[in-house]
Amino acid sequence: MDRKRRVRRIRRFIFVGMPILLLTFATLSVVLTVRSVKLHRSLVQAREELNAYMEAQSEWEYTRLRDTADAEDTETAEVLSDEGAVSVEGDTETPTAREIPSLSKAEVDSLTLGNEELYDGYRKVYLTFDDGPSINTSAILDILAKYDVKATFFVLRKDGANNEKLYRRIADEGHTLGMHSNTHEYSVVYGGEEAFMEDTTSLRDFLYMVTGVESNYYRFPGGSSNRVSVVPMEVYGELLHDNGIEYYDWNVSAKDAVVPMPSADQIYWNVRSGLSDHEEAIILFHDTASKTSTVQALPRIIEYIQSLDNTVILPITETTNPIQHLRVQDNK
Ligand SMILES: [Zn+2]
Repeated sequence: MDRKRRVRRIRRFIFVGMPILLLTFATLSVVLTVRSVKLHRSLVQAREELNAYMEAQSEWEYTRLRDTADAEDTETAEVLSDEGAVSVEGDTETPTAREIPSLSKAEVDSLTLGNEELYDGYRKVYLTFDDGPSINTSAILDILAKYDVKATFFVLRKDGANNEKLYRRIADEGHTLGMHSNTHEYSVVYGGEEAFMEDTTSLRDFLYMVTGVESNYYRFPGGSSNRVSVVPMEVYGELLHDNGIEYYDWNVSAKDAVVPMPSADQIYWNVRSGLSDHEEAIILFHDTASKTSTVQALPRIIEYIQSLDNTVILPITETTNPIQHLRVQDNK
């Protein structure tokens, strides 16, 4: 009897208990996988938000320092106003001629170099996109192609065939391929001179392998005025120089880094009001996957800039005057 009962129990377990157990495990594993994918997605998004936020903070810091320096450096500003006078007659909306005051006379003279000489006397506007590539990079490239405008992309390293296609599109379509570190992780990027150069060289080699282009352009994560790095940022600037790389900050921000994401309309006005201060403007945008309103605002922004007198949209090249927050800090 005992044996029979045991056999019945085992059979019951095999035919009822086991399937229930298996089903429970399968359900649990599906639930956990979904949850982990969701968590990973939130983590990526949070990291992107943090990255962009650091850049927004850096922009604020730069603006504050620039305004302080402004009052002390009207002499240089006058020289620049003479050099790059633009017509402002009859249109109160047109930005007035004014330049960031961080340039010396020698630097002003050095502006007339290479191909940008063609645009001497023009207001120069540079559209720059940080933290990509992403799905939005593709949409941005389409818009730039439509308006026949060249821009600059400061990219991170993102593996996968789709991303590789985007790096190639940037280079092949005549835009400037700039670097923005491998992962944007401050502890890695700013972990000392050796770590910084290792990060930069590895990204540079990766981009060269994918596109055949050796990038000589860099934008520091968080900008050169970031407060994250314990090593003075000048040290990293020098290292880049030693390796034939120039770094570029920005003097106009789309302010598309803030949370919640501003509307396309707000982004348009952020750029438009920022532009009014500058004779040469490097505009900071972000092209991560969440920045859809940046994409929506872009056509209107380009149309506005193209409607301005004596104004040209250019990609950053080696002849571009690098806007550098550190130089403004030096001047204060
Ligand atoms: Zn960034």
